Amino acid sequence: MKIDGYTRTCGLIGNPVEHTMSPVIHNTLAEMQGENLVYVPFHVGTGDVKDAVEGAWALNLLGCNVTVPYKRDVLPYLVKIDPLAERIGAVNTLVRAEDGFKGYNTDMPGLYRALMRDGVKVEGEDILILGAGGVARAVAVLLAEKGASRIFILNRTLEKAEAVAAEVNGFSGRSIVTAMRTEDWPALAGRRDGPAKYLAIQATNVGMYPDVGKAVIEEEAFYRLLHTGYDLVFNPSRTRFMELVEREGGKAFGGLEMLLYQGVIAYELWTGRGVSDALADVIYGRMKEAMGIR
Ligand code: NAP
Repeated sequence: MKIDGYTRTCGLIGNPVEHTMSPVIHNTLAEMQGENLVYVPFHVGTGDVKDAVEGAWALNLLGCNVTVPYKRDVLPYLVKIDPLAERIGAVNTLVRAEDGFKGYNTDMPGLYRALMRDGVKVEGEDILILGAGGVARAVAVLLAEKGASRIFILNRTLEKAEAVAAEVNGFSGRSIVTAMRTEDWPALAGRRDGPAKYLAIQATNVGMYPDVGKAVIEEEAFYRLLHTGYDLVFNPSRTRFMELVEREGGKAFGGLEMLLYQGVIAYELWTGRGVSDALADVIYGRMKEAMGIR
């Protein structure tokens, strides 16, 4: 990597940032496309988000990613917010505009690109979301926008699922999302107008390192209701949820591809250059190497 007076910098604002995969994604993309761009993580302390965004602007950074816990906190310091990011209520990418940064959410377009690459259909489908946290809410917004037929949000805390359902139904102007308690999943099997099998998106923390070997639903009969299980957990790369899906004959995918494509889309926004599937595959390989996955 050659750094000179023309090198542009992109960075990651977060806390912690030590275990991020983003430098692997962006520095490899820049290297492979011959972009004079370098990507570095910036640890930003509590209460310093405003200074970090203003400082990034003053230092002429081309763009930034934003990660936990600041995806909402950055909103007041942006000059514009992309409509999808606004509906989701969280920004993970800042792009330099004329008089400040514009905020985007590339996590959900990243998930959608991963789903499309894996041949997983959303339009017209009945889809289950496990969890009702920040990511699950964003997934519900995405699926509603992409034309899902019905969405069932299953969560340990029913009130949180109900709040997400009310919000997304409000945006979409139709009663598309239904909230359920996780343990009430058997009701799905008895739906008279239901599909033969569902796509399920696993958006809880259950099964995530170091809590490996657990799934939010353990009963085998639940997995017989699924044709596909998409776990958003990426560490470990193969989760118990994925194992249970496959054991009952479904297709299973993990969260590493979503992570890849949120980065790819951010890079495309910063540089204006497209990333081919073949190049994305190379980056995916580097990410796996960095995580010690074969
Ligand atoms: P969050 O806001 O903290 O929400 C966590 C969700 O998990 C809630 O629905 C919570 O249920 C549920 N949950 C936690 N522990 C549980 C347990 N023991 N039993 C049952 N349910 C439990 O988290 P988030 O930010 O939405 O993140 C969710 C997942 O997305 C994480 O696994 C993260 O790894 C993944 N993620 C992936 C990517 C990617 O690029 N692939 C990016 C971001 C996040 P309650 O509401 O009942 O508490």
